[in-house]
Amino acid sequence: MAETRNAVTGVVTDIQRFSIHDGPGIRTTVFVKGCPLRCFWCHNPEALEPRPQLQYFPDRCIGCGACVDACPEAAHAIHDGIHRFDRSRCTGCGLCVETCYARALLMAGEVKSADEIVEVVLRDTAFYETSGGGVTISGGEPLQQPRFTRAVLAACREAGVHTAIETAGHVAWDHLLTVLPETDLVMMDIKTMHTEAHRKATGVSNERILENARRVSENGTPLIIRTPIVPGVNDTVESIDAIAGFAAGLRSLVTYELLRFHMMAGAKYAALGMACQAAELTPPDDELMARLTAAAARRGIAVTHT
Ligand code: SF4
Ligand code: SF4
Repeated sequence: MAETRNAVTGVVTDIQRFSIHDGPGIRTTVFVKGCPLRCFWCHNPEALEPRPQLQYFPDRCIGCGACVDACPEAAHAIHDGIHRFDRSRCTGCGLCVETCYARALLMAGEVKSADEIVEVVLRDTAFYETSGGGVTISGGEPLQQPRFTRAVLAACREAGVHTAIETAGHVAWDHLLTVLPETDLVMMDIKTMHTEAHRKATGVSNERILENARRVSENGTPLIIRTPIVPGVNDTVESIDAIAGFAAGLRSLVTYELLRFHMMAGAKYAALGMACQAAELTPPDDELMARLTAAAARRGIAVTHT
């Protein structure tokens, strides 16, 4: 029996309507949870782990104690009128979130059916038509949940909506093959061509990513290669020239995009009980972004930067 979309579920951290940074035109971007990379500058730390996680924002807590009664694991306590949260006890059940009217407790990640997502995406079809936009599945890594990503993209496409994915590319080729037939555009990150530097910065080698970029290109799917410019990782002409040289060899390349690093996720790291290793990094200035863009363009490809 054919699988219904409603039966396909995924873990989603957010659905952003009217997004203008995740592909052409006005888009709805769906952020799925779970990523095999651990880039130390990641600005979506809530999307790294595949399971739902509790976020705690102490500055919003009014010390009401409602969460203490709600939690079956005794993860919350009030001592001397001050709320304490023991993350090691938390199973992520979400019961305390419903009792916290101050919104000091929020769940990152919710199980959604493909139908629920598609219903939200299709609300804005008029905007996609006038702007050349569509839907983008981002993350996290959308190819960690290939059946869910495919189900959403297939339904959107059936309704005439342009479909795109944002991927870090470190996935089995089978997962890409599952999704590519329903995908109009692939946006793939390449952080550095240097394998050891890549491993150090992201926790994984770049070999599978480069191989997947080549295979997507051979498949003929339009491809945007993107590089977040991160101080100490790839903010040199040599590093960007090497990536641009690789991108120039991809026959389905549309554009090479350089994305200026910004660290805006400090509060999210704290809310998840995680250390933010990029808090002290300074974003690249305009002069450096222009110099790197010019270096990449010398490879004869279309280059943009933010
Ligand atoms: S999510 Fe569940 S286990 Fe975790 S603190 Fe809240 S109630 Fe307790
Ligand atoms: S329910 Fe929310 S506001 Fe009340 S003590 Fe717990 S975390 Fe603080």
